[in-house]
Amino acid sequence: MNEIADTKPSNFIRHIIDSDMTANKYGGHFQTRFPPEPNGYLHIGHAKSICLNFGLAMDYKGLCTLRFDDTNPQKEEEEFVDAIKTDVHWLGFEFEKHLHYASSYFEKLYAYAVQLIEQGDAYVCDLSAEETREYRGTLTTPGKDSPYRERSIKENLDLFKRMRDGEFEDGSRLLRAKVDMASANINLRDPAIYRIRRDVVHHQTGTAWSIYPMYDYAHCLSDAIEGVTHSLCTLEFEDHRPLYDWFLNTIKTEHHPKQIEFSRLNLQYTITSKRKLTKLVEGNFVNGWNDPRMPTITGMRRRGYPAEALREFCLRIGVTKADNSVEMGILESCVRENLNENSPRAMAVLDPLKVVISNYPEDKTEQLIAPNHPQNESMGTREVPFSKTLYIDKSDFKEEANNKFKRLVKDKEVRLRNAYVIRCDEVIKDELGEVVELRCSYDPATLGVNPEDRKVKGVIHWVSAKHGIPLEIRVFDRLFNHPHPDMDKDVDDFTVHLNPDSLITLTQSIVEPSVALAASNLVYQFEREGYFCADSELSASGNLVFNRTITLRDTWVKTS
Ligand code: ATP
Ligand code: MG
Repeated sequence: MNEIADTKPSNFIRHIIDSDMTANKYGGHFQTRFPPEPNGYLHIGHAKSICLNFGLAMDYKGLCTLRFDDTNPQKEEEEFVDAIKTDVHWLGFEFEKHLHYASSYFEKLYAYAVQLIEQGDAYVCDLSAEETREYRGTLTTPGKDSPYRERSIKENLDLFKRMRDGEFEDGSRLLRAKVDMASANINLRDPAIYRIRRDVVHHQTGTAWSIYPMYDYAHCLSDAIEGVTHSLCTLEFEDHRPLYDWFLNTIKTEHHPKQIEFSRLNLQYTITSKRKLTKLVEGNFVNGWNDPRMPTITGMRRRGYPAEALREFCLRIGVTKADNSVEMGILESCVRENLNENSPRAMAVLDPLKVVISNYPEDKTEQLIAPNHPQNESMGTREVPFSKTLYIDKSDFKEEANNKFKRLVKDKEVRLRNAYVIRCDEVIKDELGEVVELRCSYDPATLGVNPEDRKVKGVIHWVSAKHGIPLEIRVFDRLFNHPHPDMDKDVDDFTVHLNPDSLITLTQSIVEPSVALAASNLVYQFEREGYFCADSELSASGNLVFNRTITLRDTWVKTS
């Protein structure tokens, strides 16, 4: 985690915090929170918010809480609560001692609402949903006062208590803040504070409540109850800030956090909206929230993206107030740089072509020694079995080729990675003219010889046929064919931009045996092919399924 603490990028939020700290505004205290609504899994946009909130708390020696803003039981589930905890933890942040639920403040929030009624700042409104909309007015026309706005405090208190007691039907009444129906800001036109939901079961509070607080009301008060000093949220809440402050000022809470908005992360060729990701999952456009093509934290984890790379990405994109859209290449280069440094190397042949070494003894096996990393010797070495029959990749052979093709060509030589130089003597084809086997000879004097002393055109990877382990490889491409799938005004449904070829499965591949013993979260560089890791759900012993985490080089620039 030191890299977060050690790299202190300057941004407008830090400037605000610095000046608040200098002015000793909150008595030297600094506190943030990450406040997800448990109605879906976290995505890469949330990672930006998590890294920002937890990262600032570390830098300013303050505190960051994880708070579930669980005020809408209809859409929330325990499954999401658990998944969010797992993801935040995996990203590298501790919250165990500071884990909160807005729902645990329900009693306090109720008491604040009673206070608002007693002060004449809230009322029970009986307008129907449709009438409420009508009375609210529009962006250009002011709203109208509800006929229930001037109810007596006594009547309001009585009705609100009976709302809580479950006397009234869902939707029949609302508790509303008495702010200003003529405000230019629609959020201030007597917003709802409580709604009736009699028959839902809340994942934390069960059936204890028949009424639930609205997000805008619960959010600012939860911040205040927890003693948050800086409440960071995305730009769409800018227009809600006057309401945030109105609640806190009107209730006169002990703490008054400062809300600061920043721009959300939009990532090209994917979507960062929980609601839309829910649609992909529920419509079976992907295989669940942890599908490795999803921009969710759980999907990226399964795909093999290291947590450290996601944190590095969040640092690199920075925090501003400008709407922006980040190129996928930036995320991928963070992943690639991390894996290049940390991934052990191995050899896998994705599309095998059989090679028989004619002058190699039939039953012999040699255990050749190969480094696990080309630069990092501390990663050690491994044994790679070599035998008479091998596989190389089909794309690494041509019967004829010019000098640019630095692989195996008929009657020419190539070096087998970590092994010998071989020459292709004979090409065997099937009745359709397809190359099915190569007969080669090896030069026994070339093992471990400095490549400078025995120059050949190129180096290719290989796997011993007898020792190699078959594996299935899932190759992922971009999930959408459009850089901004959910912003295309020409289509109503962003799913039309889904890439039909975003998942291709290779079933003929074969990998060196050392890989079969690997842990599922270990990402390998299969030399010359890319980065791959065992799929945590589909891989079982004796049945290897690998995901391609990422290509060796950036493939976005030339194709997008
Ligand atoms: P969505 O719009 O994707 O459904 P949300 O904002 O409603 O997401 P919450 O669970 O309320 O989801 O978000 C928790 C926190 O994460 C909030 O503070 C929110 O502002 C922040 N957040 C959500 N999406 C992004 C994003 N794309 N970039 C940065 N922060 C985000
Ligand atoms: Mg939200």
